[in-house]
Formats: sequence, C-alpha cells, structure tokens
Amino acid sequence: MEHPLASFNCCPKCGSKQFAIVNRKAKRCISCGFVYYFNPSSATVAFILNGKNELLVCRRAKDPAQGTLDLPGGFIDMRETAEEGIVREVFEETGLIVNEAIYQFSLPNVYVYSGSLLSLNINTFIVECNTFQTFHIVLPILTDDNGRTGERHRQFPTLTCKLL
Ligand SMILES: [Zn+2]
Repeated sequence: MEHPLASFNCCPKCGSKQFAIVNRKAKRCISCGFVYYFNPSSATVAFILNGKNELLVCRRAKDPAQGTLDLPGGFIDMRETAEEGIVREVFEETGLIVNEAIYQFSLPNVYVYSGSLLSLNINTFIVECNTFQTFHIVLPILTDDNGRTGERHRQFPTLTCKLL
C-alpha cells in the first residue's frame, strides 16, 4: 500500500525535499526536524427514520461517487464535537432540525479526494428530527457560518428509502 504521505514530497514547514518516511503514518524533515503525522479525519453520518420507518437518504452531488445515494453527514470541523457536527451537517444537507442525536458506533473508512486517499473515522448516530416527508425537497437557501450555500442540494432532492 502506498504511504499516505506519498504525494507530500516537500516539508510543509521549510520546503525541503528531504522529507523522509518515519513510519507508516508519518514523515520527518531531515532539514528542519518537522514531523508530520497523517491521522484519520473525523466524520459523521446520520440514520434518520420517519414515522413510516423510512430511512432518509441524499443523492451525492459531487465526486467521489457523484449521483449515488448517501446518508446525511460530513466532516467534523475543528473545535467541534461529533454531536455538534452531525446537527450542523443534517441541517446543511437537508434543512432538518435535529432534536436528538444518539451515538451508535464508529468505523474506519477511506475516501479518495483530490487524488489522495484520505483516512476517515466515521461516527454514526441515530438522529431524531422534525418530521420529513417522502420526496422532501431541500430549499436552496441554506447558508452556513462561512456563507456557503447548500448549492449541492439544489440539483438533487432528498429522497427516502424504505428499510428492507
Ligand atoms: Zn523542513
């Protein structure tokens, strides 16, 4: 398996090309001594059921796996708890207000992004929200603290799937 920092050819601190592998998850700069560890990023995912025992799913608007079904969730921001992250992501992606998020389990995953293999630790939650309807259409006016709009949801309405 390729080292997770294989595409990091230079030290991010001093720019030296003497950026050598320390172990399977770290590189060290021989010039300045800087050590960089490649740790997994934390993410969240929500299982949201309605009164009819239907599971809410979204359709991915961007790669990877554009067009496939997905559960609401995303990366946890810096200085944010997993619980805060799932509340924010569910609102950003569906417009639903989370009443309660109950942690279930975590699982490791990998995610190809910008040509690199990201390592993730996904925190799963059973999420209780205000009621959603089948074929709930997400309003395109959602904006987060950074001024990003819910652009990716304009093209793809949130769908619901019956549990098997
Ligand atoms: Zn350096």
